[in-house]
This record gives sequence, structure tokens and C-alpha cells, in this order.
Amino acid sequence: MQTYPDVKLHINGEWLDAIGGETIPVVDPATEEVIGKIAHARKADLDLALDASEKGFRVWRDTSPVERSRIMRRAADLMRARVDQIAYVMTREQGKPLAQSRMEVIGAADTIDWFAEEGRRTYGQIIPARFTGVSQMAIKLPVGPVAAFTPWNFPVNQIVRKLSAALSTGCSIIVKAPEETPASPAELIRAFVDAGVPAGVVNLVYGTPAEISEYLIAHPVIRKISFTGSTPVGKHLASLAGRHMKRATMELGGHAPAIIFDDADLEKAIEVTAAAKFRNAGQVCVAPTRFLVQDGIAERFTAGLIEAARALKVGNGLADGVTLGPLANERRIAAMEEMIHDAVSKGAALKTGGKRIGNKGYFFEPTVLANVPTSAMVMNEEPFGPLAIVNRFAAYEDAIAEANRLPFGLASYAFTGSLKTAHALSRQMEAGMLTINHNGLSLPEVPFGGIKDSGYGTEGGSEATQAYLDTRFVSQMS
Ligand code: NAD
Repeated sequence: MQTYPDVKLHINGEWLDAIGGETIPVVDPATEEVIGKIAHARKADLDLALDASEKGFRVWRDTSPVERSRIMRRAADLMRARVDQIAYVMTREQGKPLAQSRMEVIGAADTIDWFAEEGRRTYGQIIPARFTGVSQMAIKLPVGPVAAFTPWNFPVNQIVRKLSAALSTGCSIIVKAPEETPASPAELIRAFVDAGVPAGVVNLVYGTPAEISEYLIAHPVIRKISFTGSTPVGKHLASLAGRHMKRATMELGGHAPAIIFDDADLEKAIEVTAAAKFRNAGQVCVAPTRFLVQDGIAERFTAGLIEAARALKVGNGLADGVTLGPLANERRIAAMEEMIHDAVSKGAALKTGGKRIGNKGYFFEPTVLANVPTSAMVMNEEPFGPLAIVNRFAAYEDAIAEANRLPFGLASYAFTGSLKTAHALSRQMEAGMLTINHNGLSLPEVPFGGIKDSGYGTEGGSEATQAYLDTRFVSQMS
């Protein structure tokens, strides 16, 4: 029988209640029942975590990359072995269908494996010297203890990229995991602890996000921060990081254009974009949100997307066959209602969906809006829910202008049969990621990150480890 656990802090190798004994309740978004509680850290707990991360850093920095890699790979294997239990708690706390939770856990194991290998290749450089007897070296060293802040939409995936990059390069870390979805992150940390990561290297806290981030970012022990979440919070944390001269990686909101040209493979475009749109009930920073469809194909594409939306089976993510779970919290229901009401009042056509389902659990109908004016709120703010906007365009220039209109630049999608169009898009699309004729985003070995208001830094590919490394130049005369 699977159960939902109470969640403790993890500090200096121990699972602890908060010193003050405070807790925060956890709610199942499918039933609105309180299913558990988590320990609420205050400054005294954070001081313990900071002290532990400083000591843990000294141990881990001096552990060989090969040994670090072995421990990480054991953690990956433990995630795979425990997939059923971890996926169960993830679905209870976050709502997504069990199959998607399982994919997230297995994907996390792959990410750990990839970084475990990449950390063994943090090469420096030997630079030819001007004078005989001089050696010039640029060596790579771990930046130091890291503070990571992550959101509730992918409770494990959002942490594992930061955690794996930090550990593979020899950094220690304090993770401030999401209070709304705390137990699956704790299982991720448990896998590393059970795999043999020394005490203090990995620490886990929960509490009041602003209180924790303000304290940790300013603290001299912390050398680097990484945040995933909304653009307004990211700008605030980036300014704190700047004030305290801390390195930062910012993975913020998007509003991804998906441009479907007349010469696209229509069936494929519908299949790929509908799956990407409604996965995790649309609470995905890289989900396509603004579908821009060329006139010749617009009617058939819209009909196909509506059909795909109606074919989704909405329900408790634990139930067989469910493909769309509840939204993760009540705030998303209010946001969906406000955006849809605003768009329709400004002239948008509601093609399907548009309403909350029932009054228990945060279920919302998969929704398609068409002909939405650019003045509508949903055309300017990330919908972050099961809501697709389909607008038409006539010429390439119109589509690229609309795609680049917003200050965001995270993911983007395009479907076209023309190589010329594909090449033009790869140069002109203002986005950190572009996937053409398929969905090829989010693999561990490829860059993952945004530009403009979507943040800076990448959390995938070989550049991801550089964000956790300092370059030190050493010049030596024999
Ligand atoms: P929010 O902006 O208050 O919070 C977003 C995340 O940031 C949460 O995990 C929260 O705990 C954290 N956070 C908030 N204030 C913080 C602070 N001062 N210090 C540290 N962490 C802080 O709002 P929300 O209702 O949770 O989500 C609203 C919007 O955030 C969504 O519509 C979406 O645009 C964005 N979001 C993006 C992602 C992503 O993957 N990029 C994930 C979740 C939410």
C-alpha cells in the first residue's frame, strides 16, 4: 500500500524537523485533502544548512571526479529502482498523470547519469607562454556552495538539473524545494544520500520562499544561485544576486510561439504540438502557447487541435487512462478564468473548454481560443495552464514579428516543409530554443535556457557545468 510521507529538512546528513517545530500542510490538488506536512525552516535551520554546506563543500571539492561520478550514478540507479514510489507521491502532490510522473523520475535518472560523466571532463587549458620555463594554465574549480530555488510544476526535474550540475563539478548545494510539492524532491535527495554523498554536500529546506532566498543569497557562504520560476520573482532574485556579487542562472517564464506554415505536415504538427501543449496540464515553461497558423492550413489545424483537446481524459492522475490531471493549485484556476474572460470580452472565439470542472479538485477543461487580439492579457502573460491560443497569419514576416513581439524568449516551435524557412527561423527567432518539425527540447545533453526576460544561462549540455566552475589562471616559472 503506497502512502504519502511527512517531509523533513535534510541538513548535514540528517533528516530533521524544524528547530521551531513549525510545519506547512500539503494538499492533494485532485481531492483538496491535506495529505501530509513539511518542516518549515527559519533562520536557525538555515544557519545549520549553511554551515553544513561549507563543510560539505571542502570534502566534496577534494573528492575525485571519478568517485563523484560513481556516487552520482548510484543515485541515478536508485531513482530508477524507486520509480513507482516516487511517481506515486509526485502525482499525489502535483496532480500530473502517473505515467508523466514516471517519465519525470526516469528522465531525472538520465540527467544524473549524463552530468556524472560530464563532470569528469571539466577540462582547463595550457596556454603557450612567451618565455622559456613559464607554464600558463587555466584550471577549472568548483564555484562553492550553491543555493537553488525551484518551482512546483516539475518537482524533481527542476531540481535535478541544478543538483547534478553542482555535484558533478564539486560544489555543495542547499536546495529550497517547492512547498506545494515537497515529497518527490525529498526522494531525489534521499537517492543521493543513500548513494553515499558525504554529509553536508546536499541539503534540503522548505519554508517561506522570500525569507529563505533573501537570507541565503546575501550570505557569504553561498557563491552561486540558480532559480527557476516566474520572470518577476527571477528579476527580484537576480537583483539580489547582483547586489551581493553572486553568480546566477535564471530559468524564467516563456510564452512559446508555435508557427505552423502552409507547407507543414499537418497531422504531425497537430500531434506534436497538442501533446506538448497539454502535458502536465500546460504548466510547462516550454509549452507552446501562441499557435500562429498560416491561412491556408488554419481551419484544418484548429479543428485538429480542438479534437485533440476534447480527446483528453481529465481526472485524478492516479486513475487509469487519465491524460490530464488537475492544475497544481487553486491560483491556476483563478488565472485561467481571468485570462479566458478577458480574451472573450476583447473579441476572442472560445472554441472548446473554458470552465472549471466540478467544485472539488482543481480540474479545468482543456481550452482552445481563436482570433485572440494582441491586447488580450493571455497574449502577453504566460498562460501556464491547459489553454491554447490559435491565431492566423498570412506571410512569414507577420509570423516572425508576432513571435518576437513579447519580451520573453524561451522555447519556440515551427512546422514547415521548407529548408529555406527553417534556416531563416533559426537565425531570426528570438528564443533560447527552437525545435522544428518535432519536439526535441529538454534532453540532458542539449542546451536548455532562455534569452530576454526568460533569463540567462543554460541548464543542459556542456555549457551547464561551466556555470558551476570558476576559471583560475596559474602562471608558473620552473
Ligand atoms: P510565483 O511567481 O509566486 O512563484 C513561482 C515560484 O517561485 C514558486 O516555486 C515560488 O515558491 C518561488 N518563489 C516565489 N517568490 C520567491 C522568492 N522571493 N524567493 C524564492 N522563490 C520564490 O507564483 P506561482 O503562482 O507559483 O506561479 C505563477 C507563475 O510562475 C506561473 O504562471 C508561471 O508563469 C511561473 N512559473 C514558471 C515556472 C517555470 O518552470 N519557469 C514554474 C512555476 C511557475
